[in-house]
Amino acid sequence: MIIGAGPAGLTAAYKLLGSGVHPIVFEKDDVVGGISRTVRYKGYKFDIGGHRFFTKVKVVEDMWHEVMRDDFLLRSRSSRILYRGKYFHYPMRPMNAVFGLGLGNSVLVILSYLKSLVFPVWPERTFQDWVSNRFGRRLFNIFFKTYTEKVWGIPCTSISADWAAQRIQGFSLKTTLKNALVGNQVASKRDVVKTLIGSFHYPRYGPGMMWERVMSLVQERGGEVHLKSDVTKLYWSGNKIRAAEVSNAESSQRIEGDHFISTMPVRELIEKLDPPPPEEVQEAGRGLKYRDFLTVALIIDRADVFSDNWIYVHDETVKVGRLQNFKNWSPDMVPDPGKTCIGLEYFCFEGDNLWETGDEQLIELASVELEKLGIVRREEIEDGAVVRMPKAYPVYDHYYVDHLARVREFLDRFDNIHLVGRNGMHRYNNQDHSMLSAMLACENILGANHDVWSINEEGEYHEETTRAESQRAKEITAVNASQPQVPVPDWDLVDAVLLRVLARMDKASMAGAIGTVCGSLLFLMTLVAVLHADPFLSSTLGLLNEFFFGYTVTASGAVLGLVYGSIWGSIVGWMFAYVHNLCLGLYSRFILRKVRRNIVRDLLEYI
Ligand SMILES: Cc1cc2nc3c(=O)[nH]c(=O)nc-3n(C[C@H](O)[C@H](O)[C@H](O)COP(=O)(O)OP(=O)(O)OC[C@H]3O[C@@H](n4cnc5c(N)ncnc54)[C@H](O)[C@@H]3O)c2cc1C
Repeated sequence: MIIGAGPAGLTAAYKLLGSGVHPIVFEKDDVVGGISRTVRYKGYKFDIGGHRFFTKVKVVEDMWHEVMRDDFLLRSRSSRILYRGKYFHYPMRPMNAVFGLGLGNSVLVILSYLKSLVFPVWPERTFQDWVSNRFGRRLFNIFFKTYTEKVWGIPCTSISADWAAQRIQGFSLKTTLKNALVGNQVASKRDVVKTLIGSFHYPRYGPGMMWERVMSLVQERGGEVHLKSDVTKLYWSGNKIRAAEVSNAESSQRIEGDHFISTMPVRELIEKLDPPPPEEVQEAGRGLKYRDFLTVALIIDRADVFSDNWIYVHDETVKVGRLQNFKNWSPDMVPDPGKTCIGLEYFCFEGDNLWETGDEQLIELASVELEKLGIVRREEIEDGAVVRMPKAYPVYDHYYVDHLARVREFLDRFDNIHLVGRNGMHRYNNQDHSMLSAMLACENILGANHDVWSINEEGEYHEETTRAESQRAKEITAVNASQPQVPVPDWDLVDAVLLRVLARMDKASMAGAIGTVCGSLLFLMTLVAVLHADPFLSSTLGLLNEFFFGYTVTASGAVLGLVYGSIWGSIVGWMFAYVHNLCLGLYSRFILRKVRRNIVRDLLEYI
C-alpha cells in the first residue's frame, strides 16, 4: 500500500510493477502530483511554485524521459531579483549589479564587504552573521534578508548559522577553488549539476502532466490508484503495520497490506497510528513544523509581461515573495498566446492571517501588489485563482533533528513501513530525491538493504566520507553508479600540481642560487677570456667596468667579478622571488573572488 500519489508515491508504484508486487495507491486529493501538481483554471495551467526538472541521478532522469518522451521540453533558465524598482540578473552579473545599485551604493557594498573581512561577526550564531561574514552586511540586506524572511516567516537573526551552512553545503571551497584554477577544462559532478541548472527540463503542460502520465501507466499495467481516499489510521501490533483505514466521502474501510510506503507528513503518520505510540513519540511528532504556501495566479490581458521564468521580489513593502511567468516555462501553459498567467507566491503558516484571507481578497491583494511593483496596470488583470498548499516546506528548526530521531527510533520497530519523499521523510527534497528514496524503498521491499536515510537532503551522497567510512552509504553509492559518466579528473594529481603551482618562492634561497650562478659564471668567463686571450670576449666583458667599479679582465678581476656577480645575482634573485610571490598573492585573491562569486550565484537557490 502506498500512501500519497505525489512524485514519491507514484514512482514507487511505477517501479513495483512487473516485480510481482501489486501496488495500491491511496491519494486523499482529487488530483495526483502532490506539491508537483499542475493546477488548471479556465484553460490556464500553473504549478505550486515553478517546478524545474533537473537531476544528476540517472535512474530518475531515465524515468522522466521514458514517461514524457517528446513532451519533455528543454528550457533555458532566466531569473532576476527585483529590488527597489530595479532588476538584477540572478545568478548575478557584476556590471549589471554595479549599474543597478549605482556607483555610490556599489562602493558602500565593497566597503561593507571589506569591513566583514577585517571585522567578521564572531562567533557566527545566526543566518545574518553567516551571510554577512561572507558577502558584507550591505549585500546581505539587499539580496538575502527580505526574501529569506518572507520564505521562513522569522527574522534572519532567529535562523541559525548552522542552517545556512547546512543549506549551502553544495558549496565546497576545495571544489570551487579547483574549478576556479582549472576553469572549464575539467568538470566535476557538481559542475555538471550547475550547468544543468542553467537549463532544465519541463513537461509541456507542467509537472502535473508527468504524474498524470505515471498514474495512467500504473493503471494500464495493473496497479491501482484511488483518488479522494484519505488514509486516516494505521493499525499496528508487534513489529508490523497490519492495515490502514481508508476514508472517502461515503465510507471508511480497513485495508490490509504486506508493506506500507508512506509519503504523508511524518507528523500526520504519528497521529494516525493506532494504538497511539508512547507520549514522548507523539510529542516529537507534534514538534515537527511546516511552512505553508499559497499561489495567486493572475490572468493578464497582455502577450508579454516579463521575459524571465521567475523573479525574486526583494521588496519589504509587498508580501509576495516570488513571481512566476508560467508561459515562459512552456508556451502551452496558456490557452491564448495573447494572454499571460503570472503566479504570485506567498509564504505563510496554515491558519495565519494570510492563509485565512478569502480568495477574492487574496486576488485583490495580488493585483494591488503586481501593479505596485510596476509589472502590470490594474486594468490589464482579467481574472485570478488561488491555490493553498499546506506543508510545502518541512521546517529545519533547532529541534527537528531530535524530534525526527525519536520518531524514527520508534518506527524502526516496524519492518514493513517505509518512509519516503519530502514530507514523508521531513527532508527538503526536490522531486528527484523524493523519487530516489521511493525507488530505494521498493528495492528494499524486494530484498535489498539500502539505508534510504543516507540520501542527504541535497540528494547527494557523502562520497568522500562514504568511501572511507560507511558500508551502508556504499550501497547508496552502488545505486548511484548508474549515473551519467562524467569525466572526473584525478584530484590527487591536481592537488599535487596545485601545491607546486601555488608554492611561494623562498626569497633568500632564490637570492643565494641566482647569486652563486651569476658570480661563478662571471668568474669563469673572465678566466676563459684571460687564458685564451680572446679579444671579443675581453672587450665585451670589459664593458662591465662601467657598472662594476674596479672590475678588469684579469685574474684578480675574475675574483672581483665573482663578488659582483654574486651580489647582483642575489639582488635579482631576491626581487624575482618577491615579484613571483606578489603575482601569486594577486592570483590567489582573484581565485578567492571567483569562489565568493560562485557562492552568491547559488545562495538563493538554497533558501
Ligand atoms: C514552492 C516549491 C517549489 C518547488 N520547486 C521544485 C523544483 O523546481 N523542482 C523539483 O524537483 N522540486 C521542487 N519542489 C519540491 C517538490 O514539490 C517535492 O519534492 C515533491 O512534490 C515531493 O514529492 P512527494 O511525493 O514526496 O510529496 P508530495 O508532493 O507532498 O505528495 C504527497 C502526496 O500524499 C498525499 N497525502 C498526504 N497525506 C495523505 C493521506 N493521509 N492519505 C492519502 N494521501 C495523502 C498528498 O495529498 C500528496 O498528494 C518544490 C516545492 C515547493 C514547495
